[in-house]
Amino acid sequence: WTEGTQSDADNSLTELAALAETAGSQVLEGLIQRRNRPDPATYIGRGKVDDLGAVVLSTGADTVICDGELSPSQLRNLEQRTKVKVVDRTALILDIFAQHAKSKEGKAQVELAQLEYLLPRLRGWGESLSRQSGGSGRGGGAGGGVGLRGPGETKLETDRRRIRHRIARLRREIKSMATVRQTKRARRTRNAVPAVAIAGYTNAGKSSLLNRLTGAGVLVENALFATLDPTTRRATTSDGRLYTLSDTVGFVRHLPHQIVEAFRSTLEEVADADLVVHVVDGTHPDPEEQVRAVREVLAEVGADRLPELLVVNKTDATDEETMLRLKRLWPDAVFVSAHSGRGIDEMRDAVERRLPRPAVEVRAVLP
Ligand code: GDP
Repeated sequence: WTEGTQSDADNSLTELAALAETAGSQVLEGLIQRRNRPDPATYIGRGKVDDLGAVVLSTGADTVICDGELSPSQLRNLEQRTKVKVVDRTALILDIFAQHAKSKEGKAQVELAQLEYLLPRLRGWGESLSRQSGGSGRGGGAGGGVGLRGPGETKLETDRRRIRHRIARLRREIKSMATVRQTKRARRTRNAVPAVAIAGYTNAGKSSLLNRLTGAGVLVENALFATLDPTTRRATTSDGRLYTLSDTVGFVRHLPHQIVEAFRSTLEEVADADLVVHVVDGTHPDPEEQVRAVREVLAEVGADRLPELLVVNKTDATDEETMLRLKRLWPDAVFVSAHSGRGIDEMRDAVERRLPRPAVEVRAVLP
């Protein structure tokens, strides 16, 4: 099931396939179902479930990935009917975030998001926490809760209670890690070093541009979400002023709210920046939709009131017609290629021009 037009559906499905490949899956076939609203029982509707079952059989697929967030009962019904594992967009994105989290804070944030997703989906007997949270490698030996179980509590209730405890603990940990970061940030403010946040859709080329601008060795991967933990680098303007450049979490459409919640403290750092450099992939079939999706998340963390410099990247691979269209659409944007280096100097100038000027200190010297 999908919202919007046919091409929206195609783009969304292409992105879903790219996400699935990033998560390590091999994508066999895509099916689109158009309905006015999702079917409450099976999400895609009765007839389509049979089609789906036939595709699963003929391709030998072991997983079905749905482009949206399914209710716990829709997931269960689909699994029963197709006899294979069913994953929704949210679970897939959470899985990728889990694979890519590197810092302690990033890992805690992803685990929190996963547990919040899992909590309403716990199924009770036979389907315990130990199976469902498998792979995260945490959760401290789930299932061995005999001693912990309160009187008359079922296994499901125990699991839920343990998860709630873990969630509360993760929240506390994340909060204290955020405090440390705030202290660092406060130091930056005191030093009055302007900060530039690089935001943009995942795979738009944020890391590549950061490398171009600072010569830093940031990992560049042709995978969605190569960037998860924010990286901050120093840079200097042509007249020698210092500023910082930070890469932010990659955005995708329908970023699960659990992720936005869990990464709020990281994302909020964007709101503290002096300038947002918003990178757009010029070769994407629908760059305007990317821009909308990113701005939506920026607005959620209060970063929409910051000055924004729109940077269209990958112009080495963008066709002429698209270039003209995008130039008309975004007359103030700079057009660059992190690969060929085209437009990089212009981008650096545009960033510098938008940095706040340090306040001039005037001291009166008395005779
Ligand atoms: P991020 O997820 O936004 O940080 O994107 P990356 O910097 O990791 O780049 C994602 C992919 O796009 C990589 O395969 C890059 O090699 C590719 N890429 C980045 N910049 C350019 C560019 O200017 N032109 C082309 N053709 N590809 C680029």
